[in-house]
Amino acid sequence: MCGNAAQCEYITGLTRSGGVWVPEFVDKLNQENCAGCGRCYKACPRQVFELIEHPDGDYLGGHKVMSIANPGDCIGDGVCQAACPKNNITCQPLKKKEVWSDCSCT
Ligand code: SF4
Ligand code: SF4
Repeated sequence: MCGNAAQCEYITGLTRSGGVWVPEFVDKLNQENCAGCGRCYKACPRQVFELIEHPDGDYLGGHKVMSIANPGDCIGDGVCQAACPKNNITCQPLKKKEVWSDCSCT
C-alpha cells in the first residue's frame, strides 16, 4: 500500500508537471441509441472502436452502430464520451485490482 487510498485504488496518470489524475476508461456504449455517426471513432486516438452491423439486423433501417472492439487499448482520456452527441458512451475509472489481480490495494 502506498498510504494514499484514493490514489492507490484506481489506475492513475501524471500531468506534465507531475500532478496525479485519474483516467476514465471506456466502459459501456449504448448501441440501442447509436446513430452510427462515427464521431467517437474519429475522436479516439487508439482505434478502440469499430463500426459494425447492428446485432438486430434491420434496426432503424439497417444503419451500422459503433462497438467497443479493442477496450484493452484504451488510455482513459474520455474523449469519446465528450464527442458523442447522444450521450451513449460511459467512461469510468479503473481499479487496479481489475487489471492486476494480485494488487494489494483496497
Ligand atoms: S477514453 Fe480515449 S482512448 Fe479510450 S476509447 Fe475513449 S477516446 Fe479512445
Ligand atoms: S458518437 Fe455516439 S452516436 Fe456517434 S457512433 Fe459514437 S456512440 Fe454512436
